[in-house]
Formats: sequence, structure tokens, C-alpha cells
Amino acid sequence: MTRWRTYSSYLKEKYGAPVYRIGVDGGFSCPNRDESRHGGCAFCDGTGSIAVYQRTAESGYRRTASYDRERAETILPRLLSIREQIERGREFLSRRYGAELFSLSFQSWTNTYDSVENLRRIYDEGLGVMDFRELLISTRPDTVPEDVLSLLSSYITPERDVWVEFGLQSASDRTLRLINRGHDAAAYADAVRRAHSHGLKVATHVILGLPGESRDDFIATAKAVNSARSEAVKIHNLHITGGTALADDYLSGNITVMGEERTLESVELFLRHLDEDIIIERLLSETPFHRLLAPRVFPDKSKFLRRLEARMEKNGTRQGDLASGCAVRP
Ligand code: SF4
Repeated sequence: MTRWRTYSSYLKEKYGAPVYRIGVDGGFSCPNRDESRHGGCAFCDGTGSIAVYQRTAESGYRRTASYDRERAETILPRLLSIREQIERGREFLSRRYGAELFSLSFQSWTNTYDSVENLRRIYDEGLGVMDFRELLISTRPDTVPEDVLSLLSSYITPERDVWVEFGLQSASDRTLRLINRGHDAAAYADAVRRAHSHGLKVATHVILGLPGESRDDFIATAKAVNSARSEAVKIHNLHITGGTALADDYLSGNITVMGEERTLESVELFLRHLDEDIIIERLLSETPFHRLLAPRVFPDKSKFLRRLEARMEKNGTRQGDLASGCAVRP
């Protein structure tokens, strides 16, 4: 038994078998990369996150710094690409893992940053390719107007949950300003509340080790996730990638990144303050090595997870043992 609530066990309990995510790039852009917002989050290298089997050339899309109306209006190539990406993902996951059940994840950039009409066509296209157990939409807390949430909730069925994945990164407004997130912690709490009111489930992305943050900040972020009643969390340790504002700070010697020991300690601390029923979807960042500036020396994921498990066993700790209370999630 692991010392935290794993995503794989949640999926097996709910669906009776492993469910594999097919991650697709829907050709979206990001409002935070608009010039008026000074070029996006300080840790963002402008490549978006993309599944490994879709990384033929990182992504086939060329994006402008802000909303690209012309590209958004020529939607047909995007629809075609989504279909191809799903087929490629299914083929890869079936061959590699014998996958039979799938979820569809729009994971690159801000996947609600478009007109409702375009969003409908994009989500419909993906969901029309095959049966998916879950639809997962990654986005920002400030990019989920009511009509978009209504559209997302229309995809909920008795057999299919719809999840919204919100980037919070930190509950500290000082840190959010420093990394140029373009929203505050209150915007996150409000977005989660509104998503829940539409019957959507929520996963929250956080980063441990952001500049100037201490143990108290990690605990405050865990508490913010608890009080928003987010059903799941993805924990990332700070990675510095080339071409980012943080890369300049790192190369100037103004900031450092956590090594393995501090990351283990921080993840353990965060988990201990997180409510015990929150599903842990991720515990570590995974950046392609050719884009990673720091940390360059770090164990691989399975080694890190084994060491985390051993550490928590030795310390007699587990997820939620320092949390103030376990709220029942909607
Ligand atoms: S919200 Fe996401 S895509 Fe947009 S700038 Fe930040 S990290 Fe990059």
C-alpha cells in the first residue's frame, strides 16, 4: 500500500481496469502570452506540454503570442490533426501497454481559449473518434467563462466524467506576481467553485520550489487545494527550461533549483498537509532532457517514487496526516 492516494488505484476502482490518457494538442494559444501580459509565465518555454508520442517536432503548430483569429477561423486542419493524434496515441498505448480503456486529454496550452463554437467543434471531433471514459481539459483559472463551463458539462454522461485541470502553481499572490501568472489565488478558488457548480471534477497543478518559496508556502498551497475541494492534484518540482524568464534568473545566479533531497522533503511535506482523499495524479516534473537546464542531475521517476515511499515509511508519514480535516468532495 502506498502512502498516498494514487491515480492508478482510483482509475482501477472506478473503471475496473487501467485507463490510459491520450494527450492531444488542439492548436490552442494562451492569453497569458499576449504582449500586454509580458510574454507568459516565467517558467513557460512556449512549447506547451505534449505527450511523448506526439513529440515528432515538439508540435506541428506555429502559434503567435496571443489569440490567433485567422488560425482559429481555419479550424479544419486542427480537427484533422486531432483525429490523427488520437489514432497515433491509441496505437502507441495499445502496443506499448496493452491499453483498452482511454481518456481524452486536451493538455497543451490553454484548451478553453477559443470561441464556444470552435471549442464545441474541437471537443466533438475528439470525442467522436472513439469511446472515452474521461474528458480532461487543461486551462487557466481566468479562462473559464460560464458558457465554456456549460459546454464542458454537456459532455458529462453516466459513463464519462469531465475534468478541468487548473494551473494554480502557488497559493501565494506574491509568487504568482513574481512568475507573471496573470491571475491571483482568489481567481483559482472562484474557478474551482464555478466548475464544481457545473458538475465538473477538478485537478490542480502546483509547483514546489518556485523562487523565494519556503516550507510555509508549500503548506499554504496544500491548504488552498484542500479548501477549494479539488478532487485531484498534480505536483511538479520546479524545472528550468531554456528560453524562459527563469532561465535568465538561473543563469545569472539569482535563483536555485531543488535537488533530490530537498524535493523529497518538500513533496512529503506537501502530501502530509493535503487531504487524504485527494487523488495524486503526478509527483514529479518530466521535461525532455534536451530542453532542461536544471536540475540536470536527478533520479528517474520510478527511482524517485521508490525513495519517496521508503522515506515516508521510515518516517511513519502519509498523505493527510497533518491536514486539518478531510472535506467530503462533491
Ligand atoms: S498559462 Fe500555460 S501556456 Fe500560458 S504562459 Fe503559462 S504555462 Fe505557458
